[in-house]
Amino acid sequence: MEGTTASAKSSSLPRVVIIGGGFGGLHAARELDGAPVQVTLVDRWNYHLFQPLLYQVAMAGLSPADIAYPIRTVLRSQENTRIVHAEVKGADVNARTLTLHDGTTIPYDYLIIASGARTNFFGKEDTWAHHALGLKSIEDALEVRRRVLLAFETAEREQDPKKRQALLTFVVIGGGPTGVEIAGALSDLARTVLARDFRVIDPKSARVILVEMVDRLLAGGFDESLSQSAKRQLEELGVEVRLGTAVKDINEQGVQVGDEFIESGVVLWTAGVMARRLTRKFGVETDKGGRIVVGNDCSVPGHPELFAIGDCARFVPEGTTQPLPGVAQVAIQQGKHAARMIVATLESKPRETFSYYDKGMMATIGRSRAIAQAGKVKLSGFMAWMAWLVVHIWFLVGFRNRVSVVLNWFWAYLTYRRGARLITGWRSWDWNDHDHVMPPQYEPNSMPRAAPAPIEKASEAPPLRAPAPRPAE
Ligand SMILES: Cc1cc2nc3c(=O)[nH]c(=O)nc-3n(C[C@H](O)[C@H](O)[C@H](O)COP(=O)(O)OP(=O)(O)OC[C@H]3O[C@@H](n4cnc5c(N)ncnc54)[C@H](O)[C@@H]3O)c2cc1C
Repeated sequence: MEGTTASAKSSSLPRVVIIGGGFGGLHAARELDGAPVQVTLVDRWNYHLFQPLLYQVAMAGLSPADIAYPIRTVLRSQENTRIVHAEVKGADVNARTLTLHDGTTIPYDYLIIASGARTNFFGKEDTWAHHALGLKSIEDALEVRRRVLLAFETAEREQDPKKRQALLTFVVIGGGPTGVEIAGALSDLARTVLARDFRVIDPKSARVILVEMVDRLLAGGFDESLSQSAKRQLEELGVEVRLGTAVKDINEQGVQVGDEFIESGVVLWTAGVMARRLTRKFGVETDKGGRIVVGNDCSVPGHPELFAIGDCARFVPEGTTQPLPGVAQVAIQQGKHAARMIVATLESKPRETFSYYDKGMMATIGRSRAIAQAGKVKLSGFMAWMAWLVVHIWFLVGFRNRVSVVLNWFWAYLTYRRGARLITGWRSWDWNDHDHVMPPQYEPNSMPRAAPAPIEKASEAPPLRAPAPRPAE
């Protein structure tokens, strides 16, 4: 009887639906713990993903489970919240309903859209996107890991030195934090981790080329001196940094950069993101990047019941002209704010203007270098790396993940080994031998290029190389 009364009471409470269990959505849900509302969080993934460490999965430093945590577990003690594992496909803002991938609908009284961003190939989705790899999901990271490790394996069997060098040439496009981090980690992988494991190729001969269109790295917010420091640190790691250089074309063989064509085994694209297509389904104003334009309180003008936060929202602080950047802290703080504004509205209190508190920025460069900036404090090198380490472990969701990441990093730091160096995926070597059904998104052109000729006679095989000595710190 008591149970019936409780459920009747809860079903009469206002319904808050949150799309997305990323940084913004998860913090919005947590903020509503104990509030007099029924919360429904819908996500197409059943886990919260810590995207800032995706590049570590891509570079075989961490396993996917180290940086992802089940949303149900995070919110399990929150009694007013239920989780729906589904993809939102459409919305009717007048009827206040969402449509899921299976055609079912979810009604809401308040909606928080926190659906994040996707890789932006700037209109080249049908061409460049087939040859360059983005980094926005665990699937992306595993595909980058697979392709990078396969490039080394294929080069080990390749007899043509030119093709071998092409396989060992990696181009990273985009000199923002992700590009800088991945270029540094890739160079580290080749020069320290893989250096002793091959017999024919010398992994240290791998080229990592970082291409950036503007004339400095990390142009979006970092101080000029830290941009220069990042460039210097990358170059010390052997990365070739090309600034003020536009990419003209990307094809199966490599990248056209200015007047030069760089033959490349793997091309990584970190040059931009845009909001997911879902944001266009609400019939409200969006900007060129698909972000929903929101007002001072993070709600959509004319729709006080509709909030958009984080990467999928365009919020321009009062007195400025630039929208807030797509970073985790913006999403977290906006998520909390939107939740508070819903509660304030229910209590007939006025809405407040969202004010972003910038806690600073950081980017890591290889295994023991980084840059960090918080207010007037600027750090670079080892101290910045230590700060980066502490911050990233602190913000990881889940105690098990924190312990696992610390142990993995400690082990990798001491031994120069990485446990997650697995080539996995759906591909078999023999294209006619499909023992399993391959999902359509795995396209044939994602195999490493320059397929090696079989080594028929021992004399034709490239000479063996002595194992490289352990690299010095
Ligand atoms: C490689 C990389 C490195 C980064 N490094 C940093 C860093 O060092 N520091 C920093 O501050 N920021 C960093 N960022 C940016 C940061 O991760 C984002 O700003 C942040 O994740 C935005 O949070 P969000 O809640 O808006 O979206 P997200 O965290 O992306 O969450 C969106 C959620 O919505 C779900 N979703 C999307 N569409 C649907 C749908 N139709 N139906 C149901 N669910 C849906 C997704 O599954 C996802 O769980 C990095 C991003 C990347 C990709």
